[in-house]
Amino acid sequence: MSVDMDWDEAIGRARAADQREVKRAEAYLALLGEDEAQRRADTAHDRLIALDDREYSGPVEVDECPLCGHCALLVTDFDDFGGTEGPGICVVCSYERSDDIAREGAVAEHISRIMNKDD
Ligand SMILES: [Zn+2]
Repeated sequence: MSVDMDWDEAIGRARAADQREVKRAEAYLALLGEDEAQRRADTAHDRLIALDDREYSGPVEVDECPLCGHCALLVTDFDDFGGTEGPGICVVCSYERSDDIAREGAVAEHISRIMNKDD
């Protein structure tokens, strides 16, 4: 099996898993309601700081959640290009961005930066 076939199969499985994760998180978000979602979004940065103060050494940034749109995705690792398109979990809707989905997004963002670069 070629490397391309392995990648296609791996990213296909990751996308299918992400679709299941999106549906699960959407159902959870629907139960929360707007007021609770906003309350959680307002405390996202505080939660990141609290995690930093404990033994957990992963959190690097709070990013916009691709599911609920709140700036509440606690990114736990930098992506391969040094950005914050890494894996993480949203403290509002509970959506979890996997390593593979994060990597795919980071590559797309990197290509977009190169294509839009002013030279
Ligand atoms: Zn979210």
